[in-house]
Amino acid sequence: QRVEIPAEEHRIDPRLLDENAVRVVRTLKDAGYEAYIVGGAVRDLLVNLRPKDFDVATSATPEQVKSLFRRAFIIGRRFRLVHVIYGRGREHEVIEVSTFRAFMDPAAAEPVSGNEKTARHEVADQRRVVDASGRVLRDNVWGPQIEDAARRDFTINALYYDPTTQIVVDYHGGLADSRARVLRMIGDPETRYREDPVRIVRVVRIAAKLGFEVEPATRAPMRKMAALLANVPPSRMFDEMVKLLQTGHALKSLAELKKQGLDQGVFPVLDAAFRADARHPKRDEFIRFALEDTDARVNDGRAVVPSFMLAVMLWHDVLDRWAQLKKDGEAPFPALQQAVDAVFDARIGDISGRGKLGGDMREIWLMQPRFERRTPAAARSLVAQARFRAGYDFLRLRADVGEIESGLAEWWEDFHLGDDDEREAMLAELK
Ligand code: ATP
Ligand code: MG
Repeated sequence: QRVEIPAEEHRIDPRLLDENAVRVVRTLKDAGYEAYIVGGAVRDLLVNLRPKDFDVATSATPEQVKSLFRRAFIIGRRFRLVHVIYGRGREHEVIEVSTFRAFMDPAAAEPVSGNEKTARHEVADQRRVVDASGRVLRDNVWGPQIEDAARRDFTINALYYDPTTQIVVDYHGGLADSRARVLRMIGDPETRYREDPVRIVRVVRIAAKLGFEVEPATRAPMRKMAALLANVPPSRMFDEMVKLLQTGHALKSLAELKKQGLDQGVFPVLDAAFRADARHPKRDEFIRFALEDTDARVNDGRAVVPSFMLAVMLWHDVLDRWAQLKKDGEAPFPALQQAVDAVFDARIGDISGRGKLGGDMREIWLMQPRFERRTPAAARSLVAQARFRAGYDFLRLRADVGEIESGLAEWWEDFHLGDDDEREAMLAELK
């Protein structure tokens, strides 16, 4: 049932709130709708973390929400919601506003068979559609808040905070679980994993992030249900993996994946990175150094880019294929390009629509042999490249684990930092 928790009890520090999120809630409430900060943001506020993004849940439909804000866009088909935008350029902020969803017994939801799937996606909008395995393909039926709470994943993710009254609304004992540091699925875990197998990965990520224990009944079916992850679209799996790696808890998340027996066969990138391989005794260290650095950066509030991390995870796969192609008689540079293409096909799949990610990874890898060719013209052009810094950081990491001579990385660091005269002197010395 609905429990209202006052500020003295939940002790959320209002200074951690985001003013735009509060503005969105206020605008919706002034227009007569119910509106709350919800989900991960409330969960993080309760453990005194500053949320990295704020979601709002409301009784208003997407169209009603959109009409209240100057810059608002309805997005998503599987799960329609509104992005309300504040600010411009790099500083812009997105508040995600979703309409309360109805809870429905999956058995009662509209079934769909393989062939019908595409057709229904085009026409059916305001409904909930499940496939034969119970997976929810579409979830756009509006309902009251109590049902919205029930269809969320974990008790600690189903809390609603009204910043204007400072009241937290709790239907599933989320506050108690947060205090006990327990991650608990709402409802029957097995059914919930069937509805959306990605929840298996969310357990891992959120438990690692918060350092919470996974409640035994939530944990029990995970390994068995992991096979269902094969039905999830690869692009969604890819997004989940990137999240796992760049939330500042990559090492803990990977340890948690291992603990749950999910480190092989779930994410193709991780299969490549963690498959036992005696030929690369330094690979684990290489990856660990990179992830430690990424975690430290995220926790300092500095930016991290997925391209660098992915280039690290897949580097030894590239090296193996490159070596094979050279052995087969291909010239070194074309062989590297082919190796890179093969690794993309095998481990990443289609990432068109992900901006520069693929291009950046390619550049980092293709720069590596160029660091070894220190002719004046080549060196000047390499150091002037837009992505030099990422390529150099990668070279540095290779030197740190002894894959290449550390003198080479130092030379490039000096060359990069040097002024024109110093650079000329360094090049003259090479001859
Ligand atoms: P993060 O800190 O990574 O953003 P989050 O819990 O906020 O974690 P989001 O993907 O932003 O994750 O989702 C926001 C909220 O939507 C969640 O807190 C949860 O209530 C709900 N939610 C998200 N994904 C699912 C899912 N697969 N099944 C059920 N509820 C979900
Ligand atoms: Mg979130």
